[in-house]
Amino acid sequence: MTATMTTNFVSHLEGAIDGERLPPQTIHTLHNDRPIWVRYDLEAVTRTMTKQDLLSRPTTIWRYAELLPAYDPTKIVSLGEGMTPVLPCPRLGAKMGLSNLNVKDESQLPTGSFKSRGMALAITMANHFGIETVALPTAGNAGGAAAAYAARAGMQCYVFMPQDTPIINQYEASAAGAHAFLVNGLINDCGRIVNDGKEPMGWFDLSTLKEPYRIEGKKTMGLELAEQFNWNLPDVIFYPTGGGTGLIGMWKAFNELREMGWLDSSVMPRMISVQSTGCSPIVNAYQSGAKHATPVQNAQTIARGIRVPAAVGDFMILDAIKQSGGSAVAVDEMSITPWMLRATATEGISICPETGACFAAVEQCLDDGTISADDNIVVFNTGASQKYSEAIACNLPLLDSKRPIDWSTI
Ligand SMILES: *Cc1c(COP(=O)(O)O)cnc(C)c1O
Repeated sequence: MTATMTTNFVSHLEGAIDGERLPPQTIHTLHNDRPIWVRYDLEAVTRTMTKQDLLSRPTTIWRYAELLPAYDPTKIVSLGEGMTPVLPCPRLGAKMGLSNLNVKDESQLPTGSFKSRGMALAITMANHFGIETVALPTAGNAGGAAAAYAARAGMQCYVFMPQDTPIINQYEASAAGAHAFLVNGLINDCGRIVNDGKEPMGWFDLSTLKEPYRIEGKKTMGLELAEQFNWNLPDVIFYPTGGGTGLIGMWKAFNELREMGWLDSSVMPRMISVQSTGCSPIVNAYQSGAKHATPVQNAQTIARGIRVPAAVGDFMILDAIKQSGGSAVAVDEMSITPWMLRATATEGISICPETGACFAAVEQCLDDGTISADDNIVVFNTGASQKYSEAIACNLPLLDSKRPIDWSTI
């Protein structure tokens, strides 16, 4: 069976807050104001798909078709997303005192961030249901990705972003033909505009976790990682957390693979959720033991992707962290840009500020004993540094081509 000929293995959908069973193959938003899980008949998947089958499939997220919700291959909307490399970082590892440091480099995806994974699935499913107009609030990268996939599907896309969103994100949304707007507020203020506008304007709301399928797209990070590590998962994963779909999706992937009996070890990776001291609602809730997070006032961080004062899936993030035996860590806002530059200059990988925060967290966790020097560590690089021109103060010396160069200044 090839990836494009698959039958569908979704058994039902499920309210995350109360476990209520919901029908598949129909439009869903929230259930009791909280997100919805997609559930699969994993026994049937295990009978149908083998690890061997994967070897001959395309190196995109669609290689995992049996674990994805698309049921009509002709409705798939794709820009070739998936199979980002796991890059060993021996040079940076040695500087930090770590023997096994790796980066999964999501900056190489379409639109330069891992948001393309979620949007590929959200727009694909919207396309299944005949939805013609989508809208979303964004801290930056989600808007660019949604605009690109909507263009690819021939859909209209409305994007609302904070006024100080990185200029490249503003540009990419508008270049892909979205109706893009700046808002003098944060992402939750943008979310309110989408919520208020969806009825009068006829929009489908693509906000993080307000439809069930972005998680399924993000889940492919976990599926890929497992395959790339030969079904023997790393010890620790560092993940920058905003709305939380990445962390939730990856944890869902690991659990599905475990249920399928595909993982070599029963020991799961510890998930470390990383935020900035400028906006750390999940860390605060984790430390206080609360089920839900309290919204943060005056959220501010250069790492725009994790400037999310309130997350509708907060309890799902916290559950994943706790079930994995992981932790939630806030790092000094002032350490983010230096770590982004240090990691990029040391390994040549295009590290975004959100991942700069993760490296600060790795250092902090090594110092306090949360991780050890010989742990197998994966840090997710969720986006490309060149999208954040504002975070990089760059002032190159100018050479005069009309005069001989004074080599002592070079
Ligand atoms: C959106 C985003 C995040 C946060 O991801 P969530 O899955 O929403 O928590 C982190 N880094 C970058 C670069 C992002 O664009």
